[in-house]
Amino acid sequence: MHVIDAINNAKEPLLSLEITPPNKGTSIDELYQTMDKVMPFNPAFLNVTYHQPQVVYEEKDNVIYRIPKRKKPGTVGICASIANRYDIETVPHFICGGFSKYETEDALIDLHFLGIKNILALRGDAAVGERHFIPHRDGHRYASELVKQISKMNRGVYLEELEDAHPTNFCIGVAGYPEKHFEAANFEKDLAHLKHKVEQGAHYIITQMFFDFDVYKRFVERARKIGITVPILPGVKPLYTLNHLTFIPRYFHVSIPHHMVETMENARTKEKVRKIGIQKSAELCKQLIDYGVPGIHIYTMGRGNSTRDLLQELMG
Ligand SMILES: Cc1cc2nc3c(=O)[nH]c(=O)nc-3n(C[C@H](O)[C@H](O)[C@H](O)COP(=O)(O)OP(=O)(O)OC[C@H]3O[C@@H](n4cnc5c(N)ncnc54)[C@H](O)[C@@H]3O)c2cc1C
Repeated sequence: MHVIDAINNAKEPLLSLEITPPNKGTSIDELYQTMDKVMPFNPAFLNVTYHQPQVVYEEKDNVIYRIPKRKKPGTVGICASIANRYDIETVPHFICGGFSKYETEDALIDLHFLGIKNILALRGDAAVGERHFIPHRDGHRYASELVKQISKMNRGVYLEELEDAHPTNFCIGVAGYPEKHFEAANFEKDLAHLKHKVEQGAHYIITQMFFDFDVYKRFVERARKIGITVPILPGVKPLYTLNHLTFIPRYFHVSIPHHMVETMENARTKEKVRKIGIQKSAELCKQLIDYGVPGIHIYTMGRGNSTRDLLQELMG
């Protein structure tokens, strides 16, 4: 199933989820436990994030070596194992960072042979340990270039000329930023770059998390105004600890509305903070559904309990 077909054929807003691979050396069982908690809510598809290696510098014999160490490997393995174990379409995230175009092509062929039909195409974050995103010297600088390469392969156009080349068949999602991507000079520029990603062949957009319905609404209105017509799935992250109020804005470059911060900070116990956070997320989802969104994409970050509680609150 292509995600875009699921969206277009759905009679009501779809539910989709995003999980993160466990740290290296951790069992996959925890992810299965998360899946067991969320599968009763019938998600249409599951995204699995991809992480660039962390860059560490190690000294040996007076020489300093730059060593990439992968902390969260396993994206494709998780996609295959979850698709096999549960009746759900899995969507690996695919990033520019760390790959040459040739490595990208080969990795896409692997996904195609595995039967994976959907990809979320991203530039990727800067590697941990590096201040800026640094593209591979033979790789892509922007997600739009990756989208273009995938679209070409969907037409049977590979990097080298091949006789009777078999086309791939990927449905391509991309990321959008209702509060602007933090590196973009302004909102208009960022939206123009988003439009370019769609023109290169992206079928739909998933947004960065946001906590205010009006932020999403304004983003969609402005995107439509400049001719972005593809579905825009809102990304929702349930907040449930006071720590989230500082970590989330710092890490994801998003803001949390004043009233939400106040209410959570004034709660007396951890349990009350959690309850308020989940309730606020459910209210946001209800507003989005009333507005007519094509689906809701929940960032679980591996936390099955908060996602389950949010969905129970929303549906109960
Ligand atoms: C739904 C979602 C899932 C994500 N999953 C992952 C993940 O699994 N792994 C991970 O590492 N990160 C992930 N991220 C984070 C993402 O990789 C970062 O936000 C990254 O900094 C930007 O990625 P992008 O694909 O949006 O990049 P791009 O679309 O390439 O944009 C990056 C920046 O470049 C600008 N830009 C784009 N094109 C041009 C151009 N032609 N000229 C000048 N400027 C341009 C944009 O305005 C923006 O500021 C995710 C983000 C979202 C919203």
